[in-house]
Amino acid sequence: MECVFCNIAEKKAEAEILFEDDNIIAFLDIQPVNYGHTLVIPKKHHDNFLTIPKDELQKVINATQYIAGAVKRSMNADGFNIVSNNGDPAGQSVYHFHFHIIPRFNSDFNLKPKLKSYGEGAMREYADEIRSFVSKYKDIYNG
Ligand code: 5GP
Ligand code: ZN
Repeated sequence: MECVFCNIAEKKAEAEILFEDDNIIAFLDIQPVNYGHTLVIPKKHHDNFLTIPKDELQKVINATQYIAGAVKRSMNADGFNIVSNNGDPAGQSVYHFHFHIIPRFNSDFNLKPKLKSYGEGAMREYADEIRSFVSKYKDIYNG
């Protein structure tokens, strides 16, 4: 299937590339939340945060930390968001895993969603449900 980020990684499509090495490529988002909004992607196609192998994810994370420092300083940003949208309702539109680096300023808009509160005993129930999956996945985590 045609993937716009694979095309950028393979230089079949143009992008404003900031940095690349054998494994990752960082380029400006074409529709920035703030100027300097950057995407960091693995060169190899993986759909999302759960399907990218650990060792490749590590490389993307290392590069994201490196590039985020450069974006923050060059844009004179007061902070930044590192975001990964996974799945439709989370806002993923390109199904090639990536991190967003979004420079943020003191004068900025507020990205916080409307927050919920847990009812009596509900926090424990939610935690129990998640813990049951955490133990199911332990072998994968330990690799
Ligand atoms: P997602 O919505 O999947 O988290 O993020 C995808 C991002 O890729 C969006 O912010 C979108 O603006 C950006 N994007 C989509 N197509 C292109 C493109 O062809 N070039 C660049 N540079 N960015 C793109
Ligand atoms: Zn791809």
